[in-house]
Amino acid sequence: MKAMILSEVVSMAENKAPLKLVNLPIPEPKGNEILIKICACGVCHTELDEIEGRTPPPKFPIILGHEIIGRVEKMGSDAHRYKIGDRVGVGWIYSACGGCDYCVKGEENLCESFMATGRDRNGGYAEYMTISEDFAYKIPDIFSDTEAAPLLCAGSIGYRSLKLTNIKDGQTLGLTGFGASGHLVLKMVRYKYPNVETYVFARNEKQREFALKIGAVWAGDISAYSPKKLDCIIDTTPVWKPVVEALKNLKNGGRLVINAIRKEDTDKQYLLKINYQRHLWLEKEIKSVANVTRKDIVEFLSLASEIPIRPKIQEYKLEQANQALYELKTGKILGAKVLVIE
Ligand SMILES: [Zn+2]
Ligand SMILES: [Zn+2]
Repeated sequence: MKAMILSEVVSMAENKAPLKLVNLPIPEPKGNEILIKICACGVCHTELDEIEGRTPPPKFPIILGHEIIGRVEKMGSDAHRYKIGDRVGVGWIYSACGGCDYCVKGEENLCESFMATGRDRNGGYAEYMTISEDFAYKIPDIFSDTEAAPLLCAGSIGYRSLKLTNIKDGQTLGLTGFGASGHLVLKMVRYKYPNVETYVFARNEKQREFALKIGAVWAGDISAYSPKKLDCIIDTTPVWKPVVEALKNLKNGGRLVINAIRKEDTDKQYLLKINYQRHLWLEKEIKSVANVTRKDIVEFLSLASEIPIRPKIQEYKLEQANQALYELKTGKILGAKVLVIE
């Protein structure tokens, strides 16, 4: 099978083509695994973190990609959940132990043995992959393959972030950064909490226009003061400045949810601007979002089909994965990037 593999951690500023096209044997499904013939795989910011070593794969080579749509091609002897030909999706959670306190409580995203698709196990930048049938999802029929792919990560993690804000209808929400996840969160909010006002902070003028067009009540620069103090804010940026700038816009007792697997060190100095009285005093909270659970993905897919959410998509071929990643890094284009695998 064709696959784009990563063989080492590299800086994309120095190497614009970190992935290499190779031919590998098709994996064999064992036990309750299914073999998926992949037709689409979304391109996510987390891949940049893996390539550049902010969340490095534990072994190389590795096939990246965790927003996967495909069809069941073959089943292990104990796999019974799906039929050959069924359309399924795979997200960031590849597996969890199932037995620890976290897993038992449904917090499998926090499991010490959490395995991530496309980091700890091979993912979707390829023609085939295997995974336990318990970690693959049925995809609602209303979505095309390419529309469904980004919902598995940006959408599902966005959904988890929104849950962690504890927002209630009628409150105010801020979004700092307005990429794939931010715009999906805004669509969810408009549907689930019609009386929530959403304020968007983005450095790019086009992103701010887009935010206003799809229902934000206000949009400004990352360091701007919002016209009112906000109950909660979700940060989806890879850097520190937006965290500091967001805290000043929170209400007393407000909560900032950081949805980022790692923060870059480039502007870490900005943290020295934190002023306790202004940024943290009066019970302001900061909470991070880690991974996703299967429940998040299932609930989000159902919500997304109800609304419905149809992400704006830009398609690339599997062989163009490096180009898609580079364009994601340099922030050129709006909407979600998806590799289409023939
Ligand atoms: Zn992702
Ligand atoms: Zn566990």
